Amino acid sequence: MSERQHSDRPLRLGVMGGTFDPIHNGHLVAASEVAAEYDLDEVVFVPTGQPWQKADKQVTSAEHRYLMTVIATASNPRFTVSRVDIDREGATYTRDTLLDLRAQRPDAELFFITGADAMSQIMSWRDIDQVWDLANFVGVSRPGYVMSDLGRDNVSQLEIPALAISSTDCRERVAADKPVWYLVPDGVVQYIAKYGLYTES
Ligand code: ATP
Ligand code: MG
Repeated sequence: MSERQHSDRPLRLGVMGGTFDPIHNGHLVAASEVAAEYDLDEVVFVPTGQPWQKADKQVTSAEHRYLMTVIATASNPRFTVSRVDIDREGATYTRDTLLDLRAQRPDAELFFITGADAMSQIMSWRDIDQVWDLANFVGVSRPGYVMSDLGRDNVSQLEIPALAISSTDCRERVAADKPVWYLVPDGVVQYIAKYGLYTES
């Protein structure tokens, strides 16, 4: 049990889903800010399997994305990484992610974290009515996107420091031989170079 976890309340578990192709500092700041604001005991990063909303696009192998996520989060004692989505067959649906995490951590209260762009797509999720009952939702601000107020009491919004970083931009920068230092953690810069990721666009 972590120091700040109060024994009289359930574990508060943040869930940060993403493609993480690659993970970048915008993801890490979002998780850190929500953890502080909502007094979370832990944030679990969950790299997607084959992302259904990106099925038309080329996505780096799940193992590379998983390992970059592990490297990026290793230094934070409150950050962990889950394989539930990459080990499940088929496309990733948030409902399955939340059900699997609940099965693993039945006593935890879940806080699903999304950026403003993903939040505005939330209504297109499969099984959305079931998804609402599985977790609280925290939408964080993201440069270039307007946060939509979904008007539900288990959905809240948090303004976080604006980092205009996207994985798409990081991939394009690597392909164009531009630096990604300080956009992604140092270990991720080196991992990308080591395995020659994103060099073919
Ligand atoms: P891509 O460009 O490949 O879509 P991305 O940067 O959007 O990558 P994702 O893995 O798609 O990253 O996003 C995972 C989650 O992190 C989403 O909820 C997304 O809204 C959020 N997110 C990503 N970048 C930021 C950022 N700079 N600030 C706030 N939230 C972010
Ligand atoms: Mg995205």
